[in-house]
Amino acid sequence: MSKKVAMIGAGYVGLVTGACFASQGHRVICVDVVPEKVEQINAGITPIFEPGLEDLLTHTRSEGLLNATLDAVSAIKEAELVFIAVPTPSKEDGSIDLSFVEEASHTIGRTLKEAEHWKTIVVKSTVVPGTTENIVGKIIEEESGKKRGADFGLAMNPEFLKEGKAVEDFLNPDRVVIGAIDPKSFDEVKALYEWTEAPVLKTTPTTAELIKYAANSFLAMKISFINEIANYCELLGVDVSEVAQGIGLDERISPKFLRAGAGFGGSCFPKDVAALYSHSKHLGREMRLLKATLEVNKRQPLRTVELLREEIGALTEKSIAVLGLAFKPDTDDMREAASIPIIRKLIEEGAMVKATDPIAIPNAQKILSHSNLEYYETISDTLKNTDALILVTEWEMFKQLTPLEIKSLMRGNIVIDGRRVWKPELFQKHGLIYRGIGLGRRDNKSI
Ligand code: NAD
Repeated sequence: MSKKVAMIGAGYVGLVTGACFASQGHRVICVDVVPEKVEQINAGITPIFEPGLEDLLTHTRSEGLLNATLDAVSAIKEAELVFIAVPTPSKEDGSIDLSFVEEASHTIGRTLKEAEHWKTIVVKSTVVPGTTENIVGKIIEEESGKKRGADFGLAMNPEFLKEGKAVEDFLNPDRVVIGAIDPKSFDEVKALYEWTEAPVLKTTPTTAELIKYAANSFLAMKISFINEIANYCELLGVDVSEVAQGIGLDERISPKFLRAGAGFGGSCFPKDVAALYSHSKHLGREMRLLKATLEVNKRQPLRTVELLREEIGALTEKSIAVLGLAFKPDTDDMREAASIPIIRKLIEEGAMVKATDPIAIPNAQKILSHSNLEYYETISDTLKNTDALILVTEWEMFKQLTPLEIKSLMRGNIVIDGRRVWKPELFQKHGLIYRGIGLGRRDNKSI
């Protein structure tokens, strides 16, 4: 059955969720505080780069199922379900900043005061355990004078989509988790997901909140684990990809998230692990594995610069190409990208940096600007006359580069593979010096 949904926050999660619900016949109004976003969505243009999203916008808008507005109050009044999909960034100390969630809850509460019909409020933002019941529910009750369960529904429905594959992931989830305060709230949210055959987990809001954090923390921990093994492999003259293959074939471990590299970034893993760590510490049960996960990850991007230094010596006046800026391929998202500390370190050590990315340059320019840093649109302009290159983001176009192409463009011969995408022997055959994370030089054993 078609439902009316208001989506507060039209970013990666809100817009993708809204467009996907609309594609299944629900009527969705996306609310945002940024006028340009609202205008773009209403013109059928996606403000973020996500494969398949623009088609979905065009299609759902032509059917009158998706609109955007700055007017939260009207959108909430119209809706049967109100989703909160606003940011939950980290504070300086790593703890969660809930101010956007609180602001949205106040607006919802004030609007509910006048509401005549039942509405279910659903937290989609990633929030620390207890937030939906103790903060969102409480603010709405105080503002509206109404009671959860009796006058409005309350649920937490975490989102597991991956940027770059957001639409595909949303439409084909591994599971749907619905943490609801009562059966009515659960049924309302479940009705939105009628199209999927994925298992639906019925639970409490606090459990749902923790499932999201535990999932992200586990994946982040897996990456930091293989990176620790990788750094150790370098000392042994062992290739971490063989180790990863050897352990990944064990079905209890699985090969996913076992690729060593320059570390994880993005809008979720770093802040979510930090928020869960901070919350556990606050409650007096510090989760030390999470702290270690973050510490390993902070160091990891700089391993690429260390490998470079081992080959080139001092970096002063050296021209270094950086391939890839976004935190991962198929996105223009620069949040916590490994390219940021890598480029900063190269500049700090006196190098001249030439950087490229298929789509993230405009976002990178907002974060990284320096007289020793130049951005280039093409790979050939980037590599021309450089002494070395560092591959930071494994975009397909970089993976396809051949040693011959690289050799013909660079003046130097040093290749640092920060994502282990290339075959070392091919590069060595063409006279290039190849160094990769987790690949020990067999002539350089410490044992
Ligand atoms: P985002 O920054 O891309 O989007 C958030 C949007 O909310 C922005 O457009 C912002 O303008 C808008 N906004 C802020 N305050 C508002 C308000 N009061 N009213 C209306 N709009 C408001 O963030 P995102 O990546 O979509 O993340 C949102 C939440 O989802 C976060 O909690 C995040 O942790 C979680 N999450 C993100 C991902 C991901 O891959 N990006 C995946 C799963 C969960």
